[in-house]
Amino acid sequence: MLDLILRHARPAGQAGRICDIGIAAGKIAAIEPHLSADAQAVDVGGRLVSPGFVETHLHLDKSCILERCSAEHGTLEEAIGEVSRAKAAFTAEDVYRRAKKTLEKCILQGTTHIRTHIEVDPGIGLRGLEGVLPLVDEYAWAVDLEICIFPQEGLLNNPGTEKLMVEALKRGGSVIGACPYTDSDPHGQIDRVFGIARELDVDIDMHLDFSLDPSDMDLIHVCRRAEEFRYGGRVAAGHVTKLSALAPEELASAAERLRNAGAALTMLPSTDLYLMGRERHHHVPRGVAPAHKLLKAGVNCSLATNNVLNPFTPFGDCSLVRIANLYANTCHVGTGEDMAECFAMITTRAAALMNLSDYGVAVRNRADLVVLDCETREQAVAELAPVLYAFKHGVRTVSRELPVLHRPN
Ligand SMILES: [Zn+2]
Repeated sequence: MLDLILRHARPAGQAGRICDIGIAAGKIAAIEPHLSADAQAVDVGGRLVSPGFVETHLHLDKSCILERCSAEHGTLEEAIGEVSRAKAAFTAEDVYRRAKKTLEKCILQGTTHIRTHIEVDPGIGLRGLEGVLPLVDEYAWAVDLEICIFPQEGLLNNPGTEKLMVEALKRGGSVIGACPYTDSDPHGQIDRVFGIARELDVDIDMHLDFSLDPSDMDLIHVCRRAEEFRYGGRVAAGHVTKLSALAPEELASAAERLRNAGAALTMLPSTDLYLMGRERHHHVPRGVAPAHKLLKAGVNCSLATNNVLNPFTPFGDCSLVRIANLYANTCHVGTGEDMAECFAMITTRAAALMNLSDYGVAVRNRADLVVLDCETREQAVAELAPVLYAFKHGVRTVSRELPVLHRPN
């Protein structure tokens, strides 16, 4: 017995074959050329059907505060300072309202899984978490929301933060983050975060190496600890813009280290492009780490949104397809397998980074699917193909009408 059939679907990454996808009890029950069953059907007309988009790195708590902040210089220091000032006035209710608005935009863009990074420190306390936590259940019909707790304003330099982080992890956080460049002893922060992660048995997702000076890379220390504590496959790092400043042979050696340690990376092109290279007035470096080259060296990577409408990133429609397009355009990717990999970095590769199970267009996996107005993954990235439908646990959560051209008579 099927509940729903997507007819004439073109599953992502399956050589363009067209088939019917049968869904029962929230899971994919059959993928066959012609399913004959008495169930509700949606004819997707040969369009691309992909597993739902996976957003590995998004700050819901500080989204939509651009009008409360100044963003004159566009530097990382200004962004941290301005958000820190604005945070003092955050209430749980205020965080809830803004996060909800951003979350709904993500859902409308076809995102079905999100890891959101939430700040705790003595200034904000747990108000960020309290604002976001109700959304986990409220939107479970459309999106799986995972919470990563991290110290945006320092850990070792900011007494009281560690206690709050542990409390937040016990109250709903399931991943621990870090921001080593905010402490005077970055390695000390990394060690402490590994310590808490091992005590609570949670995965790690850090903000790391966020500048263009590659002379001193914290990710080498992260690899060291990941190997020592057998945390391979459970550690990810975001930004790593310093990797964009490495010569090919240095990049190859960093990639080997990352691959051996089992550490994954997330590039955040919108933020990285906006904040990096501000010290330069011409020939401004791009500051986006070359994910497609690192993939070839065996390092898993994802692409993500990071911030929406705040001093870190005064942009944001929450479209991961747009982020993949931005990455491709910025990093000289335009054809072939690398374009398909840009799509994988917002779907299957992002899911692998988050250790999601039951993900992908295959029988027995969860029916978390999106239908895009194109035929291939490469087209989706190149043409910014819109999402026409999204399904969560086999139930339609989004539909979008195509625009109509009104020709003269
Ligand atoms: Zn971030």
